[in-house]
Amino acid sequence: MARIFFLMLIIIPGMLMAQQKRPAHHSDDGFVNPWPGYEKHGLAQVARWILWDRLVKGSRREDSDSVRFDAGQNDPAFLRANRDALTVTWVGHATLLLQIDGLNILTDPIWSERASPVSFAGPKRLMPPGIDFKKLPEIDAVLISHNHYDHLDTETLKKLAAQNDHITFFVPLGLGAFLEDLGIQRYEELDWWQSVRLNGREFIATPTQHFSGRTLWDRDETLWCSWVVIGAKNRFYYAGDTGYFPGFKEIGQRYGPFTLAAIPIGAYRPRWFMSPVHVSPVEAVQAYLDLGARYFIPIHWGTFVLADEPLREPPRLLMETVARRKLNPENFRLLKHGETFIPGKER
Ligand code: ZN
Ligand code: ZN
Repeated sequence: MARIFFLMLIIIPGMLMAQQKRPAHHSDDGFVNPWPGYEKHGLAQVARWILWDRLVKGSRREDSDSVRFDAGQNDPAFLRANRDALTVTWVGHATLLLQIDGLNILTDPIWSERASPVSFAGPKRLMPPGIDFKKLPEIDAVLISHNHYDHLDTETLKKLAAQNDHITFFVPLGLGAFLEDLGIQRYEELDWWQSVRLNGREFIATPTQHFSGRTLWDRDETLWCSWVVIGAKNRFYYAGDTGYFPGFKEIGQRYGPFTLAAIPIGAYRPRWFMSPVHVSPVEAVQAYLDLGARYFIPIHWGTFVLADEPLREPPRLLMETVARRKLNPENFRLLKHGETFIPGKER
């Protein structure tokens, strides 16, 4: 009896300490958004959006099949040969080709026709990828923000891993096993604020206010994040998917100022449903200011229809906000699909 009593004396404080040490965004069965005011939506709200907003109120009025954008230009031979210049090319949606201090990096790469678990249904591309996959320069690193289908595309990841075996895949907690199932061994799995060095550059997983899940049964089991890449000369921030939250300021304080910040501007309507997890263009501008960035690279729009805003609204609202807040429009680089931006070589 006495032995059990003394054992309890050791075990209970240990359990309490372990509980205290657990980061606020970890939970018993996965992860949570720890910021006050965050409102978690579930299936009931999804049903309200689809049945009430869309079917009854007709919140998505646009015929997206008739909307197309002018494609941009890039020079694959230049991108393959480039070792010095900082460049960023918008492939489409959240996929960027970033060249920073000699490293070639892809963010949330998707070359597939649909952002979906199946090839015959689900959101379909409006615009082809801005660079032919075969013309990509040799990739060194891939940044994955979370496991939603428009950000983690298994076909593209398998093609990248088959293309060369020295790519390092950076993923948030819980996605390492997913990559191993695809046959990918070379990865770094990070929690928020953890960092790893690759060829002298620092990669840091930073928070977002979002969620995860690829089925009805795996909600929030793996983490979501944004990424900071610190090179010798330049600092890059990639937001992935996120609602507006206090984390932008903290990321800016810890790792800013950034040369480039890639921030989503699409998938924000209806606001009652989307605002906890997707910034509007108005909030995206505030995030850019919080982060302390020079150039804003808009992502997550004009490629897949995921929400209810008209497809041309995000860039319009973005530039209206820039004008209203009297910011320099030259710093907001609205790229066309496939267009390359080279800071210092502004058009
Ligand atoms: Zn998402
Ligand atoms: Zn997304």
